[in-house]
Amino acid sequence: MSSHDPKGSAEETPAYVFVPGPVIVGAGPSGLAAAACLKVKGVESVVLERSDCIASLWQHKTYDRLRLHLPRRFCELPLMGFPEEFPEYPDKGQFVDYLEAYASQFSIRPRFEETVEHAEHDPILGLWQVRSASSKGRETTYICRFLVVATGENAEAVVPEIEGVEGFGGVIKHTSLYKSGKEFVGKRVLVVGCGNSGMEVCLDLCNHNAMPSLVVRDSVHVLPREMLARSTFGLSMWLLKWLPIHHVDRLLLLLSRLILGDTARFGLNRPKLGPLELKNLNGKTPVLDVGTLAKIKSGDIKIFPGIRRMKHREVEFSDGRIEGFDAVILATGYKSNVPFWLKEGKMFSDKDGLPRRPFPNGWKGENGLYAVGFTKRGLLGASIDASKTAEDILQCIKEEAMQGLSLAGRLLKQYPSSSSLS
Ligand SMILES: Cc1cc2nc3c(=O)[nH]c(=O)nc-3n(C[C@H](O)[C@H](O)[C@H](O)COP(=O)(O)OP(=O)(O)OC[C@H]3O[C@@H](n4cnc5c(N)ncnc54)[C@H](O)[C@@H]3O)c2cc1C
Repeated sequence: MSSHDPKGSAEETPAYVFVPGPVIVGAGPSGLAAAACLKVKGVESVVLERSDCIASLWQHKTYDRLRLHLPRRFCELPLMGFPEEFPEYPDKGQFVDYLEAYASQFSIRPRFEETVEHAEHDPILGLWQVRSASSKGRETTYICRFLVVATGENAEAVVPEIEGVEGFGGVIKHTSLYKSGKEFVGKRVLVVGCGNSGMEVCLDLCNHNAMPSLVVRDSVHVLPREMLARSTFGLSMWLLKWLPIHHVDRLLLLLSRLILGDTARFGLNRPKLGPLELKNLNGKTPVLDVGTLAKIKSGDIKIFPGIRRMKHREVEFSDGRIEGFDAVILATGYKSNVPFWLKEGKMFSDKDGLPRRPFPNGWKGENGLYAVGFTKRGLLGASIDASKTAEDILQCIKEEAMQGLSLAGRLLKQYPSSSSLS
């Protein structure tokens, strides 16, 4: 996988830069989608990315065997579909190739290795000041009318505090650093967390002749990836057009029971709420089984409850059992980093760094602030946000042009030595 053309290096950037169009923070799928939707409307943006490539989550922080969890038609970005020859579930290399082609199709050249550390609205100027630091420590302040937050729901790894972890003595890593089970042949590996990543890492470990165990602390919905010769996701979307959500949930659970059996028998208790209702309520995604359940049934993957504490090469569980392990993989998820850099109290919650207003209303804030990709609805949600954001920004630009508001004039007075970038 190649990284995108790093033409946009920050080396020549002056300390203050006036951006006539929006500044987009993050060059993942959401940032690229926003930039493309703006571009086709004639609005140039500046995309700032802390990493050295587009889609850094996919290129740097995912395991080798990863494929899109959802069928391709639910993962395409606006304005450009996947190539015909792509399979139903593209692998991560194909997805990154698609994103590279997408960036070049819309001439999106992110400014790489620029981490946004502070962004604040200046109420006097009516503009955003976005301060970034390059990998060499050089600071730049971008001044813009519109700020699009596209740093993602997965910006930082969540690492739980576990008593005794420092004395464990074996490998402990978050899934963002896990590449393949090759490293763990013949090893006893404890995977903590039973979302899609945790389940898939367990399967990968089995396939590499490691001995995985899985910590399942809470209840979890495991659904087959396909039902009735259709993808479970596609079938759910279709059923929701005709039936209320709890009826669709009951149908999904009935079919899952017929296909997978009673998952509680293997230590995977189902939550009281159905999978779609739960997703709507708190964003918890059901696990789409790609073969892990069969390995749990066969005993190749053992299930354990929550961890009480760790000791040297041992883990004590909440039911009192103590087992030996050589390594621990933390499939404990990610969180947003927005509260660390965006100084704004209304749109984003300080608690979880997500928009306070739920989908479909979380994309727009005040003073030209937008959020793309914080819907807990994956790439489909990001695409919806990106289209709405671009349309709204275009409308604002038109309205302000009609009112004859000259932002550039005001800026030049305030920052006489600034330069402009588009
Ligand atoms: C393992 C995995 C599999 C997934 N599979 C699917 C799937 O099949 N289908 C689906 O719809 N969704 C899937 N998702 C969910 C989601 O669609 C993806 O995570 C997707 O990458 C989100 O895109 P994004 O651009 O919003 O965020 P990201 O891909 O995380 O991109 C955000 C970018 O912002 C950058 N950034 C963060 N902070 C800063 C900062 N302060 N300054 C500058 N840059 C910054 C990051 O470096 C990153 O490049 C999956 C997620 C994971 C983790």
